[in-house]
Amino acid sequence: MQEKIRVGVLGATGAVGQRFVEALVDHPWFELTALTASGTSAGRKYGDACRWLLSADMPPGLADWTVQETAPTIDCELVFSALPTEQAGPVEEAFAAAGYGVFSNAGSHRQDPDVPLLIPEVNPDHLELLETQRARRGWKRGFIVTNPNCTAVPLTMALAPIYAAFGLRSVLVSTMQGLSGAGYPGVPSLDALDNVIPFIGGEEDKVAIEPRKMLGKLRNGAIEFAGFAISAHCNRVPAREGHLETVSIALERPATPEQIIQAWQEWRPIPQQLNLPTAPQPAIVVRSERDRPQTRLDRDAGRGMAVSVGRVRPCEVLDIKFVILGHNTIRGAAGASVLNAELMLAQGLLRS
Ligand code: NAP
Repeated sequence: MQEKIRVGVLGATGAVGQRFVEALVDHPWFELTALTASGTSAGRKYGDACRWLLSADMPPGLADWTVQETAPTIDCELVFSALPTEQAGPVEEAFAAAGYGVFSNAGSHRQDPDVPLLIPEVNPDHLELLETQRARRGWKRGFIVTNPNCTAVPLTMALAPIYAAFGLRSVLVSTMQGLSGAGYPGVPSLDALDNVIPFIGGEEDKVAIEPRKMLGKLRNGAIEFAGFAISAHCNRVPAREGHLETVSIALERPATPEQIIQAWQEWRPIPQQLNLPTAPQPAIVVRSERDRPQTRLDRDAGRGMAVSVGRVRPCEVLDIKFVILGHNTIRGAAGASVLNAELMLAQGLLRS
């Protein structure tokens, strides 16, 4: 067996950082060796600095680890970044320049033309951008790979097999997004309870653009974005975790609801073929009940990594409509990044 690759988590005390810790602590290919956070937490014991939010206990032993400064001197080869977008940009670049591989959840670099915005099931070929990235930025070993916004992940996964089979002209999506999407402590309880908030800052722009980058074609070292339009309404609802989305689509070529379901059921992308440790089998779970997927019942499908879909029917305005659901802090964040790293390792892109 090959030696495990040493990895660190940047922003390890936050909502996504804890999901990284959970995913990496017993990982078969990666060994967690460093936890970082802000200056307020650095130097403290992880158990004291971190308000543990997950239902499973903090993994044994970690409470005594010392939280480190978020600086490119930590002992590891790869870092998983759960830093706030406002802080992540220059910090992640400093890590990559120092030779670390950076897998980022933050929004700072997602739209950089030389940074792959990756879902391993959807656009593994976009990793070729790393050659351009290293050449342009003068990085020898380091790199930045990002994963999409937590709402864009399930949407893009549900659209990918449809786009391949029938093409897309337009997409209209309305979201019902869980509170943990705002981090911890996030939305004040008196705003969230008994309420739906029809605004999430910056979210609709991300949902409108990120799927088009991921479904775009890589040509001559650059991404040509997919040509269809996306209109998004994003709402915060009082669920703890899970983003539910109702979607209507107009197709390039006609399809029945049965053909859409068949496209999802026949989809067996590379991470599933390679049986990567974090890849759900199947990637998309098709629910046949008339009232599923539901946030509480279906968000943990495939250990939080599968996207659940259902209620596929003709749309009176566009062509087809359906409901999708994804776990925002697992498939929409930490799990997505870990799967990105697994894909790169499986494809021989991580070890020199
Ligand atoms: P969060 O709960 O607020 O956690 C933020 C983390 O970053 C904490 O560990 C915090 O440490 C650390 N931090 C804050 N300022 C820092 C600084 N100046 N230097 C170093 N570390 C700093 O946020 P989150 O929800 O986990 O989100 C993390 C990132 O993932 C964000 O970019 C977010 O947009 C993205 N994301 C989140 C979700 C989701 O569903 N929540 C989904 C996809 C992507 P302290 O504890 O010391 O303050």
